[in-house]
Amino acid sequence: MLLSYKYKLRPNQQQSDKLARWLDLLRANYNWCLKDRIDGWHQQFICGDYCDLRSGIEITPLTCSLVRGTQLANPWKEGNGKAKKEGEKDKSPKRTASLMQDANLQDLKAARPWYQGVDIGVLQQIPARVNEAFSKFFSGAGFPKFKRRHDFKSFSYKPGRIKIQGSKIYLPKIGWMRFYNSRSIPDGFEIKTVTVRQKADGWYVSVRIESKSTPDFPAIPDSEITTITGCDMGLGKLVYLSDGSVIDNPRFATNKHTRHLMRVRQKRVNRKQKGSKNKFKAQQKVARLRNKIQQKREAYQWNVANKIVKKADAVAVEDLQVKNMMKRCKPVNSEIGRSLPNGQSAKRGLNRSIADASWHSLTQKLEYLAVKSGKKIYRVNPQHTSQTCSKCGNVDKENRNGEKFICTNCGHVDDANLQAARNVKAKAIKLYKLNGTAGLVETSLINSGERPLDNTLPKGKRCMNGNPGNRNIKAEMS
Ligand SMILES: [Zn+2]
Repeated sequence: MLLSYKYKLRPNQQQSDKLARWLDLLRANYNWCLKDRIDGWHQQFICGDYCDLRSGIEITPLTCSLVRGTQLANPWKEGNGKAKKEGEKDKSPKRTASLMQDANLQDLKAARPWYQGVDIGVLQQIPARVNEAFSKFFSGAGFPKFKRRHDFKSFSYKPGRIKIQGSKIYLPKIGWMRFYNSRSIPDGFEIKTVTVRQKADGWYVSVRIESKSTPDFPAIPDSEITTITGCDMGLGKLVYLSDGSVIDNPRFATNKHTRHLMRVRQKRVNRKQKGSKNKFKAQQKVARLRNKIQQKREAYQWNVANKIVKKADAVAVEDLQVKNMMKRCKPVNSEIGRSLPNGQSAKRGLNRSIADASWHSLTQKLEYLAVKSGKKIYRVNPQHTSQTCSKCGNVDKENRNGEKFICTNCGHVDDANLQAARNVKAKAIKLYKLNGTAGLVETSLINSGERPLDNTLPKGKRCMNGNPGNRNIKAEMS
């Protein structure tokens, strides 16, 4: 079982200075490695005679870099990639760009003695991080960017380097440091990768712990699922559940009070002189407020996710593409090329609300908790979930009128969002063929509010009609 625990560190002044210095050093190293990879990447596009600026050698097919991406270190592996032990396969004799940068670390330490003070494992993570950025780029993400101070806030230690005793943690090359031991690591778990992260209110450490002897919670097979909760995420309320209950959306970042506070604090930043200490202090206040909002949201979402997962054997959610929902409106131009209003200013407020609700991170938490407790999570296509009548299956845009749902075909009346949640549930049952197994009743009857099957089904299994969730939970809890 693999878990991740987070603690707040209590470094003394020297230690927190050192941590900040490390971040700067590592960021410099990251950018340097990235520059090297970018140079190598561009080299392949250059035609004709040119010479390498660093070595001054004229580039010919013989002297040009063998590995696309870097010119550091020896491109050939020691022993030409032959298997070290018998029975193993021979590997490629060439080093990859990342391995070459890794092999160059010794030279780097000799050339820049101030890197001696940084743990070698931490330093080795940097070429790996650059490599990860590049492989993401090769698989379709954006081109890797140079890191600035605000987007390089963490570094990690390799497994097995960290010790924890009571409320003290040992970070190699930094020493023993106090921390808030808010939850103890269970017996039998060993510490894997440890990431140190700077936030507006101090330093945190996230510890991955693993125990091979503790098995994961066995997941329920599809055929044994008897109860399922459909979720429809919204803005008015955060989550609408298919059992008819709703979960409030506290709007941590977009409520009136916080927005006012943020505006005032941001204004104070803007009025301070550029580069001044006062500006820095004002910026810190903004950052701390942001951090606080985020912490509140996280805590709330864990709470909500816990509640939802506990309700039933499985959860069905919409597979939302939040990124697409938050896209800007397309520009509208008049015939003479002048921009016309396109509704973006109204959309901006909506986008803020969507970002504040952060459905994606809530879904991730649901997933984490579901896996942890052996339950299932199903994702369904969100198309037409709020326009379909759950009683007769009629799909029509006209069905929905604001918050109300009135079917144009059969006249079924319901709350539009709850209707959507029920549709999500029905879709999941249909898609994953949960129907007909272990007590789940016909899809068309699931959400109808009718209870024709009460007499035919054995007790305890008639969970899916009427107002199923509540009844079942009560039964489970009692
Ligand atoms: Zn209908």
